[in-house]
Parts: sequence; structure tokens; C-alpha cells
Amino acid sequence: MAPQQKGMCRACGYVGTKASMTKHQASCEKRQATSGKPREVFRLRVSGGGPFWLDIEAVADAKLDDIDRFLRGIWLECCGHLSEFTIGPEPDWADDLWEVKPKLRRGKKATPKLSEVLSVGQKFGYTYDMGSSTDLELTVQAQEMACGTKKVALLARNLPPVWKCSECDQSATMLNSWEYDEETGLPLMYCDTHVEEADEDALLPVVNSPRMGVCGYDGGNMDEWPPAAQQ
Ligand SMILES: [Zn+2]
Ligand SMILES: [Zn+2]
Ligand SMILES: [Zn+2]
Repeated sequence: MAPQQKGMCRACGYVGTKASMTKHQASCEKRQATSGKPREVFRLRVSGGGPFWLDIEAVADAKLDDIDRFLRGIWLECCGHLSEFTIGPEPDWADDLWEVKPKLRRGKKATPKLSEVLSVGQKFGYTYDMGSSTDLELTVQAQEMACGTKKVALLARNLPPVWKCSECDQSATMLNSWEYDEETGLPLMYCDTHVEEADEDALLPVVNSPRMGVCGYDGGNMDEWPPAAQQ
């Protein structure tokens, strides 16, 4: 699956590549016409690997916990695993090689405000589940004024990838979380016909998330958008 999967703007329906979406979000008129008063936000690109990506905005005085909650809702939550942000400078060659990057752990009281830890151009990491981890990379694309009412809001999301059944050419709707294709590293996937041949206990739905097929993940709170028909 091409990592250049296109995405759709939540405000106006514009479809474009990651690069063009970055430009689009800076000038989308519908985005700026959203209800609510203007406030300072960070615009973030969240990369989940492969075709999966999101553009989100978060108010400057939101907490990392707010981003955590949003990502769990749309992409990650299966059974309440721990999660962790990794923010800080890359280890310097002059430093002790065993030194661990500074980490900001979720769950500590009073996690810092975004404006205290983020700046434009910065990349940082996020891991959901320390066992069967889903690792995300976030990039701060802009610090800007935007109207809105939510602490964290979705701006754009990759179109749902179409995966083929491992037995035929139809598109897959279910996957076998116990068996992986050696070439792609992805779970074996099945159309509605061939799903009959798979072990029922191993089945999970095909969903638009980097956690697809992991642990018991069966989808998030916005799986109906964007529509697959726009592919
Ligand atoms: Zn737009
Ligand atoms: Zn789980
Ligand atoms: Zn099939």
C-alpha cells in the first residue's frame, strides 16, 4: 500500500496528498469559517505508518492528555493500555549512549500545556500499548489562529485504503489477526465470501487505523469518515 495515501479535508471535502493537504489546511476557507471564536492552535500531522495519517489541531493550552484521548478515540483504544509521549532532543553523540531520551509520561498529574513543550517544525513520538505497541510520529506543522470549539479537532484523514482478499480480487472486510502475509507483514484479509474459511476467533474487522489487526482492535469513534466511495 502506497504511503502516499491521499486524505480528505474534514471542513470542505478537498482530497489531496499529504504535501498538498499541508498547504490546503493553511488556507482552507471552510476551516476558517467553522463556528467558535478564533484561538491559538497547533496544527499537527500524525503519521501512523503505511497509509494512515491525520491532520489535527489542538489549542495551545490543551494538555498532552487531550491529544492522547483524541488519538485513543479515533485510532487506538482496544482495552485501556498505557500510552506514552516521547518529547525531547535526540540523544547527542557527545552524550552517554546509554542515556534515555527525556520522557513525559501519561498519568502524571499536571501534564504540561502544549505551548510549553511544542514548537513549529518539531517531531515527537507517541506509543500506545507497551506490549503490542502502535507507534506514531507527530510533527508540529504550524502555530496559528483558527476558529473552533473543541480542544482537539480533526482537520483531515487518509481515505480508507482498499485491501484485497488474500484468496480473490474482491475487497477485504475482515482479517485474521493470527496469520500474517510474509511479504507485506500484514494480516491475511478476506472478502465476505472467503471469511468463512478463517478461524472465527482470530477475526477482526478491516478498519482505517494503524492498530488494525492488533490486540482486539475493532475500530474507533469516527470510522464512518471519510467515505470509502471517494477513493
Ligand atoms: Zn478544506
Ligand atoms: Zn488491547
Ligand atoms: Zn475473497
